[in-house]
Amino acid sequence: MNLSKNFTLAELTATSSHLPNVPSEKEITNLTALVQNVLQPARDLLGKPIHVTSGFRSIAVNKEQGGTMKPLSQHCFGEAVDLEVIDNAALFHLICTHLPYDQLIWEGGNELQPDWIHVSYKAFRNRKQVLRMTVVKGKKKYSVIS
Ligand SMILES: [Zn+2]
Repeated sequence: MNLSKNFTLAELTATSSHLPNVPSEKEITNLTALVQNVLQPARDLLGKPIHVTSGFRSIAVNKEQGGTMKPLSQHCFGEAVDLEVIDNAALFHLICTHLPYDQLIWEGGNELQPDWIHVSYKAFRNRKQVLRMTVVKGKKKYSVIS
């Protein structure tokens, strides 16, 4: 099922886990809003394919993969995706400058490039939060950039 010109439901729900990972109708609605408001516009502005490394996660999959449980990750609501392209920093700045989002996270990496990008979108009350995740003594630490 296509959620937009370049993104399918299959790639937004793909997982390496063997646990069930089937979104509800509400979660598909959220994924569709995320794709249509953020991912597809980002793809169009970038002019290159964007690789979704993790989209929807059932609670079981999120737990298995060490995702945030308290509060529950936005991946579990179909509101968040992890993205990778050749130049992650360029995609990060493009989303930050031109597109709506709830949270945009520079995940790992260094000052020049994040290892990947996390972006979330909600139908209402997007916080427009920009964060950076670093790993400190094996634990993920989030700091607010803006
Ligand atoms: Zn994420």
